[in-house]
Amino acid sequence: TGIRELLLSRIRDVADYPEPGVMFKDITPLLADPAAFAALSDVLADIARATGATKVVGLEARGFILGAPVAVRAGLGFIPVRKAGKLPGATLSQAYDLEYGSAEIEVHAEDLTTADRVLVVDDVLATGGTAEASVQLIRRAGAEVAGLAVLMELGFLGGRARLEPALAGAPLEAL
Ligand code: IMP
Repeated sequence: TGIRELLLSRIRDVADYPEPGVMFKDITPLLADPAAFAALSDVLADIARATGATKVVGLEARGFILGAPVAVRAGLGFIPVRKAGKLPGATLSQAYDLEYGSAEIEVHAEDLTTADRVLVVDDVLATGGTAEASVQLIRRAGAEVAGLAVLMELGFLGGRARLEPALAGAPLEAL
């Protein structure tokens, strides 16, 4: 579609960032283009409505930028999932493995309830580790996962297959 071409044209490939051998997908040109950013927000808001989501979770940090306008457009609350140690209130946390070492993400426990259906938003699905941990965190908070929506999926890293068990039938939409 035209939107897909527009979005693709606003993503910059940066070679050898953040380390040699990695081709980094940089979304800052898309954010700087109001037409492209608005079009992306509209498509993601349509997904939020179609999944019956009651809340939008954004994954730090680019998931905050992409998820917040989706929440506003769809008329839903926005919940940040942050790296450990950044949220001031009572949190639930979830550790996950990285290529070297591990990481931990957190959410305010009071932000999600058993009545919630959550759409998770992020910019890039790579190995799927971050998204998998966020799905586990949301379930442990008692909420249901309505789906996961990302701008880009790096298919060669196998994130979709890794996420399948965690998503348990919830849709993974990659634009
Ligand atoms: P994963 O956990 O390996 O799937 O990595 C996904 C996380 O790393 C997401 O939060 C992304 O924002 C970030 N990430 C991985 N690769 C890229 C990239 O090429 N561009 C932007 N973010 C990336």
